[in-house]
Amino acid sequence: MHKRWIRSISSSKKKTKKKTCNEFEEFWKNSYTQYIHGIPTVFYKSELSKKQRHDRLDPVLLYDDSTYNPATKVRFVCTSDTHNLTERFTKPVPYGDVLLHAGDFTQEGEMCQVEQFSEWLESLPHRIKIVIAGNHDLTLDAGRFPQNHIRDAFIGRLQRSCIYLEDSTAIINGIKIYGTPWIPEYNGKWGFELKREDECSAKWREIPSDTDILLSHTPPVGHGDRCADSSRAGCVNLLQQVQLRIKPQYQVFGHVQEDSGITTDGQTIFINAAMCNEKMKPVLDPVVFDMDKKSEEMLLVSSTSQWNALTNV
Ligand code: MN
Repeated sequence: MHKRWIRSISSSKKKTKKKTCNEFEEFWKNSYTQYIHGIPTVFYKSELSKKQRHDRLDPVLLYDDSTYNPATKVRFVCTSDTHNLTERFTKPVPYGDVLLHAGDFTQEGEMCQVEQFSEWLESLPHRIKIVIAGNHDLTLDAGRFPQNHIRDAFIGRLQRSCIYLEDSTAIINGIKIYGTPWIPEYNGKWGFELKREDECSAKWREIPSDTDILLSHTPPVGHGDRCADSSRAGCVNLLQQVQLRIKPQYQVFGHVQEDSGITTDGQTIFINAAMCNEKMKPVLDPVVFDMDKKSEEMLLVSSTSQWNALTNV
């Protein structure tokens, strides 16, 4: 029954979207107030948990080995929050066409940590690897690391093993993947922090409306964002734009390691792909999903220099 439901999301997306779009427009019109808008725990308790779906999905529902055919489908393998602990993984990363990493691949973004992560990526067999930074990868934040040559060295090392997205898009077989590293302000000491409300809203407005897979470090509020003390760390502004405008089929993220797993609001499938748990133990599994190819053209990247470098991938 669940598999039929998942198929119905992709095969009759337009119909599903129209129906849910009205529901979400109604929700935001009636629930939006300046007082609660930026505070995720208050917003979740007072509005979201009462009026929206947060159905948890079993990971096995997102892929089907009996129908997977690399000629017609793209298999994505989602990871996040590996924190240079990949040597302690107890199981191999499953094979797929595209590996996604939603940030926090290092502890503090030191060069040796970036190199160690890059070597791990090179050891994996996936045809394409797409990576964004997280708040722990702070040397990649131009605001924190304004010396271009140092930041370029970190990114240069990373780009030898993957496509590094920072507020940019990669298109694989017609599927548009947008990557963004930013999080709502944590304590001002880490990388890629933005103030809730205006700064977050402005950044999320850069996300193209035709995005199929949104790769962000932060979760939206209400999905994969429940902290150990039951507070919510996700972004209210991001959920608003995801539900009203972007409507991606998938949003893949990490950051809140206490709440890994898959949920849906009936429109988007939200994947918290953290591989380290709240005790920083690398014991969680990557999440796999399949999507139908939209074109034969294998890879386009929005950055011209990367596009030139990767035309032969
Ligand atoms: Mn993080």
